[in-house]
Amino acid sequence: MKSGHLDTLCVQGGWEPKNGEPRVMPVFQSTTFKYDSSEHVGDLFDLKAAGHFYTRLSNPSAEVVEKKLAALEGGVGAMLTSSGQAATTATLLTLCRAGDHFVSAASIYGGTVNLFNVTLKKLGIEVTFVRPDATEADLQAAFRPNTKAVFGETVANPALDVLDIETFAKVAHANAVPLIVDNTFPTPVLCRPFDFGADIVIHSTSKYLDGHAVALGGAVVDSGRFDWKASDKFPEFTEPDPSYHGLVYTEAFGAAAFIVKARVQFLRDIGAAPAPMNAFLTNLGMETLHLRMERHCRNAEAVAAFLEKHPAIAWVNYPGLASSKDAALVRKYLPRGTCGVISCGIRGGRAAAVKFMDSLKLVAIVVHVADVRSSVLHPASSTHRQLTDEQLAAIGITPESVRLSIGIEHAEDIIADLEQALRDL
Ligand SMILES: *Cc1c(COP(=O)(O)O)cnc(C)c1O
Repeated sequence: MKSGHLDTLCVQGGWEPKNGEPRVMPVFQSTTFKYDSSEHVGDLFDLKAAGHFYTRLSNPSAEVVEKKLAALEGGVGAMLTSSGQAATTATLLTLCRAGDHFVSAASIYGGTVNLFNVTLKKLGIEVTFVRPDATEADLQAAFRPNTKAVFGETVANPALDVLDIETFAKVAHANAVPLIVDNTFPTPVLCRPFDFGADIVIHSTSKYLDGHAVALGGAVVDSGRFDWKASDKFPEFTEPDPSYHGLVYTEAFGAAAFIVKARVQFLRDIGAAPAPMNAFLTNLGMETLHLRMERHCRNAEAVAAFLEKHPAIAWVNYPGLASSKDAALVRKYLPRGTCGVISCGIRGGRAAAVKFMDSLKLVAIVVHVADVRSSVLHPASSTHRQLTDEQLAAIGITPESVRLSIGIEHAEDIIADLEQALRDL
């Protein structure tokens, strides 16, 4: 698709039907694909020919979403996975092996903290966390000779800190390693991390990309700009892979070396592939992504302004507020809006927070964010329950913290519901 407008890519990107083909991208509900000769199948297995042969590796419905998302982010290729967690795991395991290390902003999704601190550690891959507002010197100090990547979230879930992508990219590149950015909250409609130097973008498509809370999924997008050869730190990219008869990724796939390697090794071996139906649902959601993000942001801005003035609210954290500590970063990276998620502190601590939540009628208690329906969550007792108090404090979660995900209903109805629940405290 030639159009550079994100709106048009959201609606029509990825699926370009030929004469007589379905207008809407079909669900290719097939695990396997038919070929006329065994020689062709052999070429597929040797990665000499491109094509689908087994849905664990690729599927035509997933491919449509991959093309759409790569175009939206401005990358050379993308890979869908079964969940956002699988996307992060795929990325780190494609870059790191036992004995390696990476640097991450501390202010990230709780599930990702566990993945980094516990599961990757068990595999011999270590992480050093840095403050999200780390200076270049702070970041540099976290590096070791075996550091292979830097990780952060554009807008952190749930702390909502905004990442200074250019600073993180600068230090990553000075050390010849890629910057990975989880862009789940802003989506490419509001921020394209590649424009600011990120090399790999990750999504939990379970959030705004699907947008309707119907399909779990993740995605990895490759900018194609990181020079694996020049870096000299990634022999797995530049030396023969014995599991593909000595194929060298940088030679065979050029700028797409990373995303191809992630697919043909990680998806092949780990099997965290997306279901075709989920690819279909994600694509359907993405067709209205540009419209939804606009409304999520305008509604959240109205709600944040309301909460900021309310006497029962101790503090409001929304990067879109003029009073946000990250206002300058927002002007630079997120000028059209930040996301629909707000966190706030309810005066009276944990008990008041719980009472407030239980009094809400339109805004529902759910362990999810970023869908069309407004919802509320108490991170300390749910999503972030596994973290210690110290870890919680490091990512800005206190017992009175409540996280609101503002949907696309009418702002007046959302505010009226919050107002009645705050009145009873
Ligand atoms: C939800 C989320 C994830 C994990 O995604 P799943 O699809 O739930 O596995 C990762 N990063 C961020 C920022 C998220 O919000």
